[in-house]
Amino acid sequence: MTNSVFEEVNLFFDVAADRLGLEEGLRQMLKRPWRELLVQVPIRMDDGTVNVFNGFRVQHNGARGPYKGGVRFHPNADLEEVRALASLMTWKTALAGLPYGGAKGGVQVAPGSLSMDELNRLTRRYTQSIEHLIGPNRDIPAPDLGTNAQTMAWMMDAYGMSNGHSPAIVTGKPVEMGGSLGREAATGRGVSYILAAASEDLKLDPSKTKVVIQGFGNVGFWTAKLTAEMGYIVIGISGVDGGTYNSKGIDIDALGEHQQSTGGVSGFTGGDSISNDELLELECDVLIPAAIDNVITEANASLIRAQLILEAANHPITPVADHILNERKILVLPDILVNAGGVIVSYFEWTQNLQEFRWEEDRVNQELKKTILRAYQEVRDRTRGGLITSRSASFEIGVERVAHVVKLRGFV
Ligand code: NAD
Repeated sequence: MTNSVFEEVNLFFDVAADRLGLEEGLRQMLKRPWRELLVQVPIRMDDGTVNVFNGFRVQHNGARGPYKGGVRFHPNADLEEVRALASLMTWKTALAGLPYGGAKGGVQVAPGSLSMDELNRLTRRYTQSIEHLIGPNRDIPAPDLGTNAQTMAWMMDAYGMSNGHSPAIVTGKPVEMGGSLGREAATGRGVSYILAAASEDLKLDPSKTKVVIQGFGNVGFWTAKLTAEMGYIVIGISGVDGGTYNSKGIDIDALGEHQQSTGGVSGFTGGDSISNDELLELECDVLIPAAIDNVITEANASLIRAQLILEAANHPITPVADHILNERKILVLPDILVNAGGVIVSYFEWTQNLQEFRWEEDRVNQELKKTILRAYQEVRDRTRGGLITSRSASFEIGVERVAHVVKLRGFV
């Protein structure tokens, strides 16, 4: 029997808990979500019929602060996936040193199949259904796969209808509504800072370093744009509809315009067409999965031809694949470190909202750099010179910090 994605993430947790010598009761408490909510989200479609979607909000652990985590609109979103993503948020916020717990939400829907009006109604109904659990000091949603600043604007508006003007209820909202400068690019910018730091350690010269990126949404686009600006050669990029390859380097802005006008990556004339499977197996120096989970598995881990993998997506590598990559001496930097830029700048956005103050974009980017590189350094030190993997080190730090506060609070 195969493991669910939540069970898979917990395999990583178990390794850390074993090494930290956590007692069984504490382990159970840290592993399982504190609270889970399943809701139905009925909406009237444009054609007059009613459709009922499944919605979720999982609050995994709130020991270190209010719950924090994105909302995903995707056909595969289910309770197990949302649990897994919520737990990753707990370890991620702890690793980044942010005063938050971990949560995640989702609606099982293909957002591309809905009109803007239908999406607006869906988002409002979902927000109303989880409203009693969220709040600026309780649980603060943000965008994730299939959601964006517009979704957050609708969530903030729906919440505000019964709670009054509350910009701190969501992060990743439009700048005009209290969003932070730099938030849209933050996850990709964080990935680019980690790439620069790892390149220095591995002695990779950006101008000779070939990068492949799966996903060309919020995270993939900004990662591609910023790494190309830093001088790396981005030779492969894909979206759900397929990918493009150019050994000389892809023109990221031109691909961005192509996606704007056609809705996808395929058909781009600035490169050769390739499939998503071919993209992952391209010969390159750095592979950056930035789309969905479980794309590097037992089936293709031995075919990966990169020396460094940065997990910009959440849980793109299964534990078995992770083991194969480790055996093959491919360095994997994990999601809870690599994609933390999003939640780091979400934290800055939230603090700006609470203080009713705005930072300049330069300040946001500088603080992001300082925070994510501190976490990178801590992970590097914790690997004890390569004795344990970066993933084990990252989980060890995150789990240790949460366990410590659980004890301080006197829960156990
Ligand atoms: P998005 O919806 O903006 O973009 C997703 C991209 O993935 C699109 O280009 C889409 O075409 C592609 N995609 C979807 N299904 C695919 C498939 N089956 N094969 C290949 N490509 C596929 O989402 P995003 O916000 O960029 O999130 C991407 C990943 O990054 C997710 O794992 C998310 O949890 C993680 N993440 C996002 C943020 C954030 O701030 N948005 C922060 C941390 C982590």
